Amino acid sequence: MFGLYLHIPFCAAICNYCNFNRGLFDADLKTRYVAALISEIERAGAGGQAGKSADTIYFGGGTPSLLSADDVASIIGACRQAFDVAPDAEVTLEANPETVTTDTLRSFRDAGVNRLSFGVQSFRDDELRRLTRLHGADRARAAYREARAAGFDNVSLDLMMWLPGQQVSQWLESVDEAIALGPEHLSLYMLEVYPNSPLREDMARAAWSQAPDDDVAVMYSTSMERLEGAGYRQYEISNVARPGRLSRHNLKYWTDGEWFGFGCGAHSTIGGVRWKNVSATDDYVTRISAGRPPAVESRRMTAEERLGDALFTALRLSEGADIAAINERYGVDAWARFGPDLDRYVQGGLLEVTEARWRLTRQGILLAHEVMAVFV
Ligand code: SF4
Repeated sequence: MFGLYLHIPFCAAICNYCNFNRGLFDADLKTRYVAALISEIERAGAGGQAGKSADTIYFGGGTPSLLSADDVASIIGACRQAFDVAPDAEVTLEANPETVTTDTLRSFRDAGVNRLSFGVQSFRDDELRRLTRLHGADRARAAYREARAAGFDNVSLDLMMWLPGQQVSQWLESVDEAIALGPEHLSLYMLEVYPNSPLREDMARAAWSQAPDDDVAVMYSTSMERLEGAGYRQYEISNVARPGRLSRHNLKYWTDGEWFGFGCGAHSTIGGVRWKNVSATDDYVTRISAGRPPAVESRRMTAEERLGDALFTALRLSEGADIAAINERYGVDAWARFGPDLDRYVQGGLLEVTEARWRLTRQGILLAHEVMAVFV
């Protein structure tokens, strides 16, 4: 089963920290973009993926909730027409709290969306202002209630830690509030302040700084402990879920799965070939309208790259990498290949290695980039 990712690059305003592929909403460009997206989906379907089915559709962005329900229905319809999409497919839409009402959410649900992922980031107004988000904490709470009123029983919230000026206790306020709301799924990310981001300038001007590393470790570990105490299970470095509510789509990225990515800047990985579409929205629309392929990079991955990639992503999972399966899939002995480089992490207590699995320890998770660099 593969996944289908749809990139929606439009936002009502650009947040000061954002490094995603997005631009300001423009109604005319949006109309042309949706038509191009549908056309790309149809062409890929005509390319033939016989015998394979999709069981996830994921609208990511940008701000997919700026689409109309009719746009969403047309895109889902194109996916179902072009591919064998399972009737019970997980269909996720990323939504910003300020863009929705109970009615719009109900219409997304009628269009076929069955999972919402809200970009909440924080339940503190001062933090949201520093991130130049358009919503406040009350709007985030209301959006969550509206999702329930609209009938969604699978809701995820994104929160961000290590915000400018944020103390451990302030981060935990947001975590506690999320727990009190009771979504099925939560993603907890660490803010990365990019070199040329307006946020970096805002921070310098206002003399905001990020908490020291030791505090971030406490933010991360304490929030995971509180979430586990509240019945969530951490299944990936940044993700927790109630039983049975893991993100089926995102798991494909971490379990050596396959997915088509449609839209500007989207990546795809199918049959050991990886490609990336042109990033700029207007270039993407122009290419599709002219009948040209939108991919600007495409290559068959070597067996070595696929193995490294499978290990790199699987170590993000709490259950770790199923080494027996990976060895069989790639016809290798992964320990013979990587063991000499990994042994010091095993000795240092960052990585647990058994015949069946390799797994980062809690301490290893905090230094995951270091361990994973072995596979890149
Ligand atoms: S809403 Fe999300 S994608 Fe859009 S600018 Fe803000 S962070 Fe970036």
